[in-house]
Amino acid sequence: MRIKVISLFPEIIEAYFSASIMKRAVEKGLISYELVNIRDYAFDRHRKCDDEVFGGGPGMLMKPEPLDRALAAAGSPELRTIYVTPSGRLFNQVMALDFAHEENLILLCGRYEGIDQRIIDTRVTDLVSIGDYVLSSGEIAAMVVIDAVYRLIPGVISHESLSEESFSSGLLEYPQYTRPAKYDNLIVPEVLVNGNHAAIERWRLKASLIKTLAYRPELLQNIDLTSELGRLLKEVIDEGGGHGPHTADSSGTNSN
Ligand code: SAM
Repeated sequence: MRIKVISLFPEIIEAYFSASIMKRAVEKGLISYELVNIRDYAFDRHRKCDDEVFGGGPGMLMKPEPLDRALAAAGSPELRTIYVTPSGRLFNQVMALDFAHEENLILLCGRYEGIDQRIIDTRVTDLVSIGDYVLSSGEIAAMVVIDAVYRLIPGVISHESLSEESFSSGLLEYPQYTRPAKYDNLIVPEVLVNGNHAAIERWRLKASLIKTLAYRPELLQNIDLTSELGRLLKEVIDEGGGHGPHTADSSGTNSN
C-alpha cells in the first residue's frame, strides 16, 4: 500500500513510520509512504496556508489553493482520499478493513478551524472522525487511521493475531494472561492452563461476551438469540454477567 499524508506539520508523523512494526513493513516493501508538506504548495510571498472565515467567527481556515495543489499532486480525487475531521463518519474496524483493500490511500490533516469546504467537495472521498471530541489537528487522527489499517495488510502481522482481536468477531477480546500463573495471590483461571482446547475456546467466547456486555452492550444487539452464540449470551445474562473485567475473570474461573 502507498500512503500519502498531507499535513502542515509532517514532522509530527515522521517518527511513526520509522519505528517498530511500521518500520519493518516499510523495509519489507509492504508499505511505502510520502509525507507532503502543504506549505510546499503555497506560492504567495508568505507561503500562507490559512485565512479568516467568510461570514465571520473565531479562528482561521486552511486556504483552498495550497490544499488543492498538494492533493492534486498526490493523486486525488482518483485515489481514496480521507479527510480526518470531527464531522466525519465514526471510524471503526469495518472501515479499517475497507481501507486496507486500497492500493493507495491519501490522508488529509486539518488544522485551525479545518479546511475550506470546496476542497472537501472536490477532492475528498471519505470524511472520517476518530471520536466525538475535538483534537487540535489531524495528524494524530491520521495516524490512528493508518495504524488500524496497515496492520490488516497481509504480511504485516500474523493472521492468527488479527482473527482473535476485539471487533474481528463483533465482540471485545477475552481477557488474557501470561506467566507467572500465580502473581501475588492473583491466579490465572484454571481452564487456561489445563490444556483442554475446547474448554479454553468456550471460556474465551463466554469471557468475550461478558466483557462486551459490560463495556459495549450495543455490539450485541444483532446476535440471534437462537444461535449457539445467542444461547451462550443468554446463559451469561442469566448468570448476571457483564459487570466488568473482574466479573469476566472470576466468571471464567468459576464456571469452567
Ligand atoms: N472546527 C472544527 C469542528 O468543529 O469540527 C474542528 C477543527 S480541529 C480544531 C482541527 C483539525 O483537527 C480538523 O480539521 C481535523 O483534521 C482534526 N480533528 C480534530 N478532531 C478530530 C476528530 N475527532 N477526528 C478526526 N480529526 C479530528
